[in-house]
Amino acid sequence: MLVPVLRRVATEIIQSEYWRPSSLVLWHAGEPMSIGHDWYRNAHKILDGGTGRVRRIQFQSNATLLDEPWIELLSESKAGIGVSVDGPEWLHNLHRKDRSGRGTFDGAMRGVERLKAAGIPFTVIATVTRNSLDAPDEIFDFFHALRPQKLAFSIEEAEGANVRSSLYEIETMSRVEEFFRQIATRNFAHADPLRIREIEGVIAGLISPVGRLEGSQETQLGRIVAIGATGNVALFSPELLTTVRGDGSYETVGNILQQTLSEIFASDAVLKQKELIEFGVRLCRNTCGFFDQCGGGSPANKLFETGRYDVNETWYCRIARQATVRGIEVAIQQAMPKSSTPEMGNLGVLKRRVAPQSSHIPPNPRHSKQQLIILQ
Ligand code: SF4
Repeated sequence: MLVPVLRRVATEIIQSEYWRPSSLVLWHAGEPMSIGHDWYRNAHKILDGGTGRVRRIQFQSNATLLDEPWIELLSESKAGIGVSVDGPEWLHNLHRKDRSGRGTFDGAMRGVERLKAAGIPFTVIATVTRNSLDAPDEIFDFFHALRPQKLAFSIEEAEGANVRSSLYEIETMSRVEEFFRQIATRNFAHADPLRIREIEGVIAGLISPVGRLEGSQETQLGRIVAIGATGNVALFSPELLTTVRGDGSYETVGNILQQTLSEIFASDAVLKQKELIEFGVRLCRNTCGFFDQCGGGSPANKLFETGRYDVNETWYCRIARQATVRGIEVAIQQAMPKSSTPEMGNLGVLKRRVAPQSSHIPPNPRHSKQQLIILQ
């Protein structure tokens, strides 16, 4: 990212009324650690500008370049790190290779060991592909031994450069459902369960006292601001930063070097985009039984699959929302005593039996007003 862009992000976003104490700066571009740690040390100084406003920083990385200087940077900036690991070696190395075609599993595990030795907590994002579906037990055992602070599964998407997902087929839906049922069942049965994002999300939806969702984070203007290296801005879904329209232009809505954030939010392009996205969310709310768990899906996936924002169901949501939620709900019902179901509102039983990690679960994470600034 260009230094002038960093300076504009500092003045236009971080040192503005828009910024909140809970806002998070997330470095998420290819492999952020391919740029030296000193660059980030300087970038954090510029972004914060001595105000103390940048309190939460997160990197998403494959951890293969994580060395002692990086450990120092993570420690001194109290930055979090999410490591991309798909599961055991055979599975991870199927899709995650370096430029010479070698699997990156060993490098990722070396990075994780460094984090553990330094006492730095890490989370994991594991991409689920068709290859994962036959191995839920092996995957659960692997991650249970790895012990991330929190595990999130990311369904392989057809989006941007990845034009095809191995999961977007009718017959795959029941296999994805069974995959998540088994992962959740194993976790519920374990004396020392993992924190798993998808399970916490379903439980939070079931025990939430605040009713129906107003929308997912990606459907609300201003909750996500993604900024590219040259200052281009995308709102709503971060993937829109690299989404190319039919005419070859990008699905971005402005440039932070040329406009203020307020001007971008108030532009005709953003107001139109917001209107279409909200129409799609209303369709979702009125037609979909999964709305409480989903909040209306991802604008980027809707756009990529249908060319429009003002639609409801997509392949992505059938797999990543509907099949996932169904599998976890089945595991919850199987773990509950016969006489109680989540629908009966027996929250004590639900928490005790299937959500021992529930002390970590906010009432409903999708209702939190956390903002996410994604920098590339
Ligand atoms: S699961 Fe699909 S159709 Fe249902 S609310 Fe989500 S995006 Fe809309």
